[in-house]
Amino acid sequence: MRDYSDLIRRLKRLDLPHKTIGVVDDSPIYLFQLQSQSSNPKQILITGGVHGDEPAGVEAAISFLARDNTELLNHFSFVVIPCINPYGYIHEMRENENNVDINRSFETDDVLEAVIVKDAIRDMQFAMTIDFHEDYEASGFYLYEGIQNEQYLGPIIANVVKSIGPIDTEDSGEDTTAITQGVYKVASKWGAQGLAPYLLHYHSEHVIIPETPTVWELDQRVALHLGILDTALTHYIEET
Ligand SMILES: [Zn+2]
Repeated sequence: MRDYSDLIRRLKRLDLPHKTIGVVDDSPIYLFQLQSQSSNPKQILITGGVHGDEPAGVEAAISFLARDNTELLNHFSFVVIPCINPYGYIHEMRENENNVDINRSFETDDVLEAVIVKDAIRDMQFAMTIDFHEDYEASGFYLYEGIQNEQYLGPIIANVVKSIGPIDTEDSGEDTTAITQGVYKVASKWGAQGLAPYLLHYHSEHVIIPETPTVWELDQRVALHLGILDTALTHYIEET
């Protein structure tokens, strides 16, 4: 069992604007908002822990909130939901309290955590979303990307962050299309069941799903997640 009250203490200690968007089995789900100083910032959504047994995503979200983002806030506003699946996080399981995979539940309204997230972002639109995940079978990292203009950044991103750790060389499965090694398209046939595909359909022009191998040390996995985020954000800064 993992200690969610410790995670709550760490988040509260950050002293950043946040609210509770829902409660699952007595555990709150938090949403943090970091507002840009700029008049026309790009909105970025950062999510972790939709799969409870993938702790590096939660740690990456907390590390992002804890670091100095002053420079980035000249360009972006951020919405951060560090842990979507507190029950799974506590019990170190992928699914929620009803043994349901939240990341296959966004098309309907019968899974609590998915409904909580959908309600919280109902009126929001994002330039980019990053949803942190992990893989228990991979030996290196890989990522999924969906982008409405089909100008994929994944190959550039993978090339930058491979200095942190190697790209996974195994193909991620037959229902994916590789853009380059370790970079796969978010497939339209996935529908909107998953969080990132749902966001790509309704709320976000661009989604990235980094996957870190759990065989790496936690610090390296967190660095990889944040490296992917920062490389994508750098692209958006250079574009303007
Ligand atoms: Zn996952």
